[in-house]
Amino acid sequence: MKTVIVGAKALLPEGIRQCQIIVENGRILDVAEHVPFAPEDRVIRGSGLYLCPGFVDIHVHGGGGFSAMSGKAEDVIAMANAHARHGTTSILPTTLAAPIPILRAAVQGIRRAAELPCDADILGAHLEGPCLSPAQTGAQSPDDLKIPAETDLTPLLDAWPGGVRMMGAAPELPGALALGDQLMGRGIVASIAHSNATYDQVEEALDHGYCDVTHLYSSCSGMIRVHSYRVPGVIEAGLNLDALTVQVIADGKHLPLSLLQLIYRCKGAEKIELITDGLEFAAGNLVEGTVYRQLNGVETVYEDGVMKLLSRESFAGSVATMHRCVRTMAQAGVPLIQAVRMASENPARRIGAARKGRIAPGMDADLLLMDENLDLKWVMAGGRVIRDFDAPEEA
Ligand SMILES: [Zn+2]
Repeated sequence: MKTVIVGAKALLPEGIRQCQIIVENGRILDVAEHVPFAPEDRVIRGSGLYLCPGFVDIHVHGGGGFSAMSGKAEDVIAMANAHARHGTTSILPTTLAAPIPILRAAVQGIRRAAELPCDADILGAHLEGPCLSPAQTGAQSPDDLKIPAETDLTPLLDAWPGGVRMMGAAPELPGALALGDQLMGRGIVASIAHSNATYDQVEEALDHGYCDVTHLYSSCSGMIRVHSYRVPGVIEAGLNLDALTVQVIADGKHLPLSLLQLIYRCKGAEKIELITDGLEFAAGNLVEGTVYRQLNGVETVYEDGVMKLLSRESFAGSVATMHRCVRTMAQAGVPLIQAVRMASENPARRIGAARKGRIAPGMDADLLLMDENLDLKWVMAGGRVIRDFDAPEEA
């Protein structure tokens, strides 16, 4: 049976168009002004709604109370399902710094989950760390940070050949450029993460596979003064170098709207990947002022719509959904089609997920309907409706 979506304003690569979309066997079969369909076909009426490609979250640690770090496939499925209800139809579960055997087990858990039925497509794993700078720890566990030159990462990268799609590392650490070369050789995207590098060090890293910046502004070095001279850092390099794409936590808390606008002004619509950086607490119900303990033992408090370390000196990952991030970008004045592109096409392209992130014939049928207020009304993943019109409203 085919499904035909009629009446919606579709966010197509070439612009927003009123058109009809036919879905069959989990793929988009056709996109046209009028497509022929048979009486037995299922018709979805999208009048007055925007039809968007499903969101692709390439940096998310957990959701719905479950973490990607547990090593259990069922936890990974549960976190992916929690995000899918909010429009994330493809997901790259992301690890935090931890001992190598624990990371290996986590990757294997994600790998097993990817073979099981799930509402979101698990596209692989993203390793955030463990080779991160002790000077830019953020909410990563300081005891678990590693120096690449002193760490054999091969067992970790071999835990899922072809499945590890991205790794975040600080390129200024000893051995980190060789690590970049190794990642490039394996087809793994190297992202500059939790880094205290100078601008010059970032430029050098470009020749060693580093091509992306993890959550720009968060745990990134910025300009400092050394004697009379100003030395720019990762933030300025991320904004200024065309060779770098940037991941942006657009929960509206990590970065004020003014900084989101500045990033958009510098990077344009095609070099920004929205991410949630969601913790296990994301996409769930949280109580203001409550202390929650992360799996790695770090204690965090939920305050003002975000998780903070108890010291309140640092955020500890977000509780956002990708839908909230798109909304925040729209509030920052970014045109809807571009905000959605940053949540779908750009992250899909970054990790080489060729059938994701766009509404076009041959692409996976990952589709969302949103109303004029950008409330999410309906979610289809792989041709299957996973959230229908009568589902209760969620935050
Ligand atoms: Zn993260």
